[in-house]
Amino acid sequence: MSRLSDIHQKTNEHGIGKCSVPMWSGGCPSGFCDAPAYGDKLHASKWPWGRLQYEGYVPGLACIGHGGPDSRVFMDGNLWVAVYPDFTNLQESPAGFGDSSEEARENLN
Ligand SMILES: [Zn+2]
Repeated sequence: MSRLSDIHQKTNEHGIGKCSVPMWSGGCPSGFCDAPAYGDKLHASKWPWGRLQYEGYVPGLACIGHGGPDSRVFMDGNLWVAVYPDFTNLQESPAGFGDSSEEARENLN
């Protein structure tokens, strides 16, 4: 089985990583989901939108479809900024700021 790389376990300076959910093809491991992921899988209590939560094994980061957060967070100076995946710039796009990534996400919502 292929091993997790860093990009599946932590986001980069732009708050972007890759989904770590293992994929299977014909009963054999076939790499990872690799969709853009913005953090670890959310706890059920934080699961938004009333969607059915993905219950499978997530060894590292999770994409939105596999239960990960729907916003990405990164540092801007000494503040955390949370933005949606379609972010273009701070003038035109919604953004949340905070002293922690959680606080930034709360201010975005
Ligand atoms: Zn995924």
